[in-house]
Amino acid sequence: MKVLFVGDGQLGQMLGASGISHGHECLLYSTRSHEVKPLSAHVALPWNLTEAIQWADVVSWEHEAIPADIIAAAHDKFLMDPARIKSLTDRRAEKKLFDDCRVATSPWQSYSNAEELQKLLEAAQQPLVLKAAQGGYDGKGQWRFKPGDAVAELVAEAGKAPGIAEHLIPFNKEVSLVGARGKDGSVCCYPLVTNVHTRGILSYSMAGIDEVPIAMQQQAEAAFHRLSDALNYVGVFAIEFFVVGEGDEAELLINEVAPRVHNSGHWSMNGANCSQFDLHMRALTGMPFPQLRIEPTLMLNVIGAQQIPVGLWHHQDAQCHWYNKDPRPGRKVGHVNIRTANLATAKTWVKQWRERLQVLA
Ligand code: ATP
Ligand code: MG
Repeated sequence: MKVLFVGDGQLGQMLGASGISHGHECLLYSTRSHEVKPLSAHVALPWNLTEAIQWADVVSWEHEAIPADIIAAAHDKFLMDPARIKSLTDRRAEKKLFDDCRVATSPWQSYSNAEELQKLLEAAQQPLVLKAAQGGYDGKGQWRFKPGDAVAELVAEAGKAPGIAEHLIPFNKEVSLVGARGKDGSVCCYPLVTNVHTRGILSYSMAGIDEVPIAMQQQAEAAFHRLSDALNYVGVFAIEFFVVGEGDEAELLINEVAPRVHNSGHWSMNGANCSQFDLHMRALTGMPFPQLRIEPTLMLNVIGAQQIPVGLWHHQDAQCHWYNKDPRPGRKVGHVNIRTANLATAKTWVKQWRERLQVLA
């Protein structure tokens, strides 16, 4: 099969590498430079978008901001409605989807301009997180507010563009569910992984390391079914949740979804019998999903660092992935997957390496 991926970042590269290992041909389309590219090389093919779409049997994506010209030109090459996926780049549509599917999320209101935001803040009874409706990622485009805070400056900044205001959730931890839905509606999910963020950026994920209560996994998978069915989704889909409450009382509140492969699923490249990229390729090509088996794995992001230290490249328990991008503070440039048996050793790895691997803005 010939697959064209929208986007040429690390997710597109890793999807393409998986596609090749399944015997497919894969090309990437850069939505920034408008070039059609082969995998891993910084060169462009002498093809325009129309030629690439004609070549492809299927068009898929590494990011959900699918340009309008591709939605129009490749409509019959997508396995689902690409406009519906793109609509999720707007937090208002995303939160409405959660409400429509009856998946619990933090209470929210939208605002369209500074005036509406001002009214909303003046009436607020609890701490809020403001999020720009469009364009935010890695914690960008977000502001915190609590009753009593000065309003004017915040309104001047956050009110420049439409957004949502949602309750600040005092969560115990953050988890995500990564899974895939096939053309036939079958679903296959990994266990919930625990995610730790620093200044809004995913710092590390732990899969199979800290215990996930069965009821919580079931709640997460029920949300996965409802949301992916509502979208008639085909491929890998990720859901980020807040865990509120302790023990048997613990509940999940959905934070956001990513209709694509996700950073918190990168551990699966070395910690599962089938990676999230392989799952996505299976979904696209109608191959059945396997029975997933996993090994406890820590995924440490490499953020802004100039390189991954040689000690890690040589370590028998670590598998390093370098994206060949120019390092800048706050930019994800690689990740390291580490086989580790329990929470204590995972914490030791984090303590030992995080500072050297992560340079935040
Ligand atoms: P991503 O890079 O995952 O797409 P993002 O910048 O789009 O992230 P969110 O995932 O919504 O945005 O927020 C980033 C982080 O900010 C969350 O992982 C969480 O730690 C914190 N956060 C967001 N919303 C809330 C909230 N309502 N209450 C408490 N913390 C929050
Ligand atoms: Mg997030």
